[in-house]
Amino acid sequence: MDADAASFANRVLNWYQRYGRHDLPWQRQDAYRVWLSEIMLQQTQVGTVIPYYQNFIKRFPNIKQLADADIDEVLQHWQGLGYYARARNLHQAARIVRDQHKGRFPQSFDAVAALPGVGRSTAGAILSFAFDQRWPILDGNVKRVLARCFRVPGWYGQSDTMKQLWYLAESVTPAEQAPDFNQAMMDIGSMVCLKSKPKCEACPLKEICSSYRHHSQAEYPQKKPARVKPHKHTLMLLHRHADQVLLWRRPPSGIWGGLWSLPEVDAEPAIELWQQSFLSMTQLPNKIQESVIRHQFTHYSLDISLAIIEMEQLPHKIFDQDNYVWVGIEALGDHGLPTPVRKLLASLQD
Ligand code: SF4
Repeated sequence: MDADAASFANRVLNWYQRYGRHDLPWQRQDAYRVWLSEIMLQQTQVGTVIPYYQNFIKRFPNIKQLADADIDEVLQHWQGLGYYARARNLHQAARIVRDQHKGRFPQSFDAVAALPGVGRSTAGAILSFAFDQRWPILDGNVKRVLARCFRVPGWYGQSDTMKQLWYLAESVTPAEQAPDFNQAMMDIGSMVCLKSKPKCEACPLKEICSSYRHHSQAEYPQKKPARVKPHKHTLMLLHRHADQVLLWRRPPSGIWGGLWSLPEVDAEPAIELWQQSFLSMTQLPNKIQESVIRHQFTHYSLDISLAIIEMEQLPHKIFDQDNYVWVGIEALGDHGLPTPVRKLLASLQD
């Protein structure tokens, strides 16, 4: 490690002693808990994650219990955290650990990085926090600190930029105390080097930060040129009979994969099934609410309209019983539902 890198690491470690976070519920815990927290923390802030983490650990206290659980129950405990692919990958990875690693969390980088949902940075974080190994990490907060400190050109979607950021992360990570260093870098990113208005006066890196010296903090990290978000529209069908509603399980891939939702007329295979097996039994919608909810995804926004179909009687046979179910309003909480659908159903009960 050269002198600049050593100075960088010392500043970060000294700051961590005084100001860093030392009492997060997953710190100094086993690999299962560290791994779970790292997956939950992808795209989600610490404050939001803590109650979900605690609730999840209460129900699935170890990797075996998670692996043996039904995916529906896992998704239900993930409900509200978003990015549900994370929960499906977590569940799948728990089964891999159970079946291929004798239930013990692997300790080699290649084996950890091969688990579904675990990328290079997450693998480094797990190995460093759970097994005290020296691996660099590069989550969103660390990327921002490094991009500003070294004025790294380009945006994160560019491979040259990522290569340079990984090179820097690798260079500044010390041989000793890698877990403290990694935690400190995440803390500096989330507490000091904020996206807008970084608190440079309180930053341990200000004497060596190139953006600070050049008053160019706002220019780094450089942004991807903006693109207008496309706008989509869908019509959801609320079949209602007394206090029961019809839920449809979404396909495993795609948005809200595997979660329970309402049948949609533009979603295959729901429309096809609906037309073939069900339409003849239903009345025409007696109420359509236009654009009742707008939901923002990363790449597009979605307007959801709702057609309410009051049914006088339940159909005798239910087609495709695995993926359609009648549920009493009071039991909706037992099913993993996407947040906008849950809000939509809740608003009808008001
Ligand atoms: S000095 Fe400012 S811009 Fe540089 S790393 Fe610290 S907080 Fe970020």
